[in-house]
Amino acid sequence: MPGRVFILGAGASREDTKHAKLPMPLANDFFLAEYINEHWHSPDYGYTFAESNLASILSRYFGLQFAIDGEKVLSNKSVNIEEVLTFLDNYENVYLATNYQKDIFIKAKQELLSFIHYVILNTPAHCSPEFVHRLSNNKSDGALKKKQIRRAIAAFRMHNAILSNIKREDSVISFNWDLIVDSILWANKKEHYFHMRDQLLNPFIIAHRGAPDFGYFSADDLHQGYFLKLHGSVNMACCTNRDCLRHQFPILFDEFEAETPSLQQCNICFSPLEVLILPPLVNKTYRSNRFFRLQAGLAASKLNIATEIIVLGYSFPVFDFEANSLMRLARLNPKEEEAGSEDFLERIIIVNPQVTNRRYIKRITDLFGLSHSKRMHGHKVQLLLYKKIDDFIENFMKGKK
Ligand SMILES: [Zn+2]
Repeated sequence: MPGRVFILGAGASREDTKHAKLPMPLANDFFLAEYINEHWHSPDYGYTFAESNLASILSRYFGLQFAIDGEKVLSNKSVNIEEVLTFLDNYENVYLATNYQKDIFIKAKQELLSFIHYVILNTPAHCSPEFVHRLSNNKSDGALKKKQIRRAIAAFRMHNAILSNIKREDSVISFNWDLIVDSILWANKKEHYFHMRDQLLNPFIIAHRGAPDFGYFSADDLHQGYFLKLHGSVNMACCTNRDCLRHQFPILFDEFEAETPSLQQCNICFSPLEVLILPPLVNKTYRSNRFFRLQAGLAASKLNIATEIIVLGYSFPVFDFEANSLMRLARLNPKEEEAGSEDFLERIIIVNPQVTNRRYIKRITDLFGLSHSKRMHGHKVQLLLYKKIDDFIENFMKGKK
């Protein structure tokens, strides 16, 4: 069944946490001193941030300087975390033989992954009802659960205003590693999205009572809305052993375990686990495991039949070729099967401060084929632009209720 597709980028999480002590960081914020001081836990590593392998790499290759002021670290600037992660990943996979201090690069990458993970998981404290539910093993204290639900709804007001009235056939595609959408979907009892996700994580397990028989996939399943996290999530991990089944079938963590996935072992082969976060790298793609590929395929098919595509806080990075390919697939088949065939897409809504930037808009109209929408989609597709999420909620969502 055609439905709406909501696409969320880093700007959505940022906007909804901007009043928190530390808002959800954008890619350029992670190495600001306030994030390091709050989220680098020296006892976990056995040394301070300034003594870390990561700090050596950042100062040597990215020109960051760190000074110590009592217990605190001071830094002169921040750099894009995706660039640092790409650098370390490339080193490990391509340039390993170029330097005899290779252990510093490898340890720096592990430190970076664990730092990213910690920052996202704790900024701000999610208190996700999903966690409460999963921890409670269904014997949860109803009053506590209600309190957590109210907290999530109050904490993430914009997400709640938008996602509280989504319908079963609507899908949510997130490029964020955080758990804000998870919390809000759970708080609004949209459990259907979690049943569907459990099936994606492990299609061989019957995920819920009343599910169809083992291996049975009905057309009805295909027509449900999905919640897809295309770049992974801080509460998922996969096995580092590429030959292991758990490399393809990630594990979902609850709150306590999620703090330290690197300390956990794979329950199939006992290799270390690695948190499942995929930065948009050129050489590490949706092909990297079964789960990412499956999610990307579903996302493309949902975009292909969407009636409305609503993009919130996503910057359409030029170099995220994987995501760009996905957006292009929102238009009709390459060859019209019959003259005058039409797809379902009625409008595309972009909510981002950059909507006044002509180059930004040009990139979007190009990706979605909007400049020739009659030819590309069979009819004129409306493009609505909002600078702020609140404007979108006020003008568009309110009118839909
Ligand atoms: Zn394993």
